[in-house]
Amino acid sequence: MQIQFLGAADTVTGSRHLVTLGGQRILLDCGMFQGYKVLRERNWAPLQVAPREIDAVVLSHAHLDHSGWLPRLVQAGFRGPIHASTATRDLAEVLLLDSAHLQEEDTRRANRYGFSHHAKALPLYNRADARRAIAKIVPLAAGRRLAIGNVEVTLTPVGHLLGASSVALTHEGRTLVFSGDVGRQHDVLMPAPLPLPQADVLLVESTYGNRSHPSGDTAPAELARIVRDTVHRGGKVLLPAFAVGRAQALLLLLQRLKRAGEIPDTLPVFLDSPMASLATALYIRHRRLLRVPQREIATLCDGVRIVADATQSQRLAASRYPAVIISASGMATGGRVLHHLKALAPGPQNHIVFAGFQVGGSRGAHLVAGATQVKIHGEYVPVRADVSALEGFSGHADADELLAWLRLMPRKPAQTYVVHGEPEAADTLRLRIQDELGWAVRVPQHGEQVTL
Ligand SMILES: [Zn+2]
Repeated sequence: MQIQFLGAADTVTGSRHLVTLGGQRILLDCGMFQGYKVLRERNWAPLQVAPREIDAVVLSHAHLDHSGWLPRLVQAGFRGPIHASTATRDLAEVLLLDSAHLQEEDTRRANRYGFSHHAKALPLYNRADARRAIAKIVPLAAGRRLAIGNVEVTLTPVGHLLGASSVALTHEGRTLVFSGDVGRQHDVLMPAPLPLPQADVLLVESTYGNRSHPSGDTAPAELARIVRDTVHRGGKVLLPAFAVGRAQALLLLLQRLKRAGEIPDTLPVFLDSPMASLATALYIRHRRLLRVPQREIATLCDGVRIVADATQSQRLAASRYPAVIISASGMATGGRVLHHLKALAPGPQNHIVFAGFQVGGSRGAHLVAGATQVKIHGEYVPVRADVSALEGFSGHADADELLAWLRLMPRKPAQTYVVHGEPEAADTLRLRIQDELGWAVRVPQHGEQVTL
């Protein structure tokens, strides 16, 4: 067995692990790098292995840092199938088309206003490339066994996001398990992650490897307080949210707060993200995968104003009455949220609330760190609005939850690799796995190849 760590090996994005096993070359995830420019530039580099020589891709889940490079892989000559759970396939379709659309738009804007450093900017991929990749996705039900050559593949749900799964590859009695992104024990939408199958080799994520979520569920009370205070002073609450997952969790939370009388029932809530609207429909369609009562999920959008087009979105950005706006992207790296950010950041009456992990180098991370100005579409915008990060509202297990989950494994794996974390998070989790579980564990380097 050989593993080559082609991404998410020194950072949280660009998840790509190439496993050579039983004569098959299987790529686990094909994610996009996000955040710092030096990382984003990796998206333009060719894969260290010829895509033509990869037999299959298995996707853990649809988030772009796990799926967003697929169109590029297909464009570069990958011919095989892409295996993923049905819900992952459905969400990936929405996410990849949106990603392509954003890149086309950014490229157009960069070329028009000349703020690209390149002579003529080009998108990483376009919508036609995304469609070609989506067409290759073959759904695989959780728990079902699939054969890729003589390697057996199984998916096991891990909470985190609709359809998110861990991936097990078995050949001649040896099993490699890749955790994917691991959800929380008590997520708003998703059930707790199922225990991992026994692994000889384990790849485990470490996004929150050095952090603990606050005990108890403080997010609803905090959000209620922020909304009440902001409305009281006549401001708007802007919730930049990942369109898939966090946007639906926020809607659910706001509906519950309204029903409980914690925030005004008449307060307008806008969902301003075409992708979030599409994703919400998919959450409702796949509701049996959620932990929310079926009746409640059916009312997720009751009273919510769905912003249909860009003109309406701009009118909303210019309006002055109190409201809650949920818009994407979640790290304010692109999308309609940028127009709202431009309009709302300079006003001290407003409140910008981030509700998810902010990758280092992203606008969201700068704002959460207290930036007094932020660059949007090539111009600097002053930040006088309040900025908060909603603690405990993450889709990822924290370090204690990860360790408790790993403890459920019947026997210790011969080797564990800690991936998908900023260097400090990955190393902290590595040390805890070594000291508290007594497992052989390492943090791999980007590009490193190991033979087991
Ligand atoms: Zn994820």
